Amino acid sequence: MKLHEYQSKHYLRAHGIALPEGEVIRRPEEARAACARLGGARWVVKAQVHAGGRGKAGGVVLADSPERVEAEARRLLGSTLATVQTGAAGLPVEALLIEHPPVIARELYLSLLVDREDECLLFVASAAGGMDIETVAAQTPERILRLGVALGEQPEPEAVRALAEGLGLEGAQRATLGALLAGLLRLFIESDASLIEINPLVVTEAGELLALDAKIEIDDNALWRQLELAALRDPGQEDAREAQARAHDLNYIRLDGSIGCMVNGAGLAMATMDLVQRHGGAPANFLDVGGGTTAARVAEAFKLILSDDKVRAVLVNIFGGIVRCDLIAEGILQAMREVEVRVPVVVRLEGTRAEEGRAMLGASALALESAASLDEAAARVVALAGEGAA
Ligand code: GDP
Ligand code: MN
Repeated sequence: MKLHEYQSKHYLRAHGIALPEGEVIRRPEEARAACARLGGARWVVKAQVHAGGRGKAGGVVLADSPERVEAEARRLLGSTLATVQTGAAGLPVEALLIEHPPVIARELYLSLLVDREDECLLFVASAAGGMDIETVAAQTPERILRLGVALGEQPEPEAVRALAEGLGLEGAQRATLGALLAGLLRLFIESDASLIEINPLVVTEAGELLALDAKIEIDDNALWRQLELAALRDPGQEDAREAQARAHDLNYIRLDGSIGCMVNGAGLAMATMDLVQRHGGAPANFLDVGGGTTAARVAEAFKLILSDDKVRAVLVNIFGGIVRCDLIAEGILQAMREVEVRVPVVVRLEGTRAEEGRAMLGASALALESAASLDEAAARVVALAGEGAA
């Protein structure tokens, strides 16, 4: 789960990390009062969406009067902001962060993430901050600095010194960096984060280190014990279908292809997607309906897949182990009675009560095709979607 910049900054500040003063507004009428509370003569207005790239998309603007701030607030609030990270549809802007802009000397990059390979936490840093870090990593990998820290440990003073040097930090800034890393580590562990990213971390003219942008992602699997953070979820920033799936306890991830996939079990879902791809198609989603599913949940899953208008054909692949295929069939029939199905559906049922399930589907007047094997099902659904080589 992603936090907004202003939410992330709240936690950074609580962990002793220096930031510009800021105010959050949700209506343009609040703009002038926010400027008055902050004081000063220049402000930066930042659209709060769950994506980076806002700067280049007009979502981060400087204003030198409260009137300008208000005008920008009118332009941004209620609009959708499309950045390189959001896709063309963009994300709704419902809140703005207004801050005191510091005078920036340099922009650095600093993040903390989980390094699965080395089984440690990893600080990634670069003196080439501000811009797209993926580009820096791809074109000038030597400019990416790394510092691994074992769980429960603190970074070695030597390693912190080397990192500070690599970032071009001097004197008191080195001690500040040490405190910053320690604060990030504490926050990361306490909040069950999977990513904390500060881009840019700026060095001001006055030599201060300030977090100018902040992004925190929380491990969804830890939200049961992170109730305060879980309450910060902003469904307006999330894919509506993924939110709906969560409400029904379905494991759904939206993808770019045209073949809807409904599968039980994450492993089988992955294998199904691989097969679809092998036959030249592209999955529209990952969906695991789970092991102990019910007809009602299958119906919800099916409706979810069909509500995506880029879906041109659906592949249902169920291996009935714990789940019974006749229940799955009932769910499919229920869903197909409730929503109009305009695309072909290929079903492969195998395992417990598969014959009963197939018979139920066969007896219905609905346009369904049964496939004898998974490979055949994948080939057929790709052909029906009008994709693939054949
Ligand atoms: P992002 O594009 O979504 O990552 O948004 P950021 O908050 O990182 O802002 C993008 C860029 O806008 C930064 O790299 C800075 O160059 C610039 N920027 C952001 N905040 C300020 C500010 O307070 N003052 C100035 N001068 N520039 C800023
Ligand atoms: Mn940024």
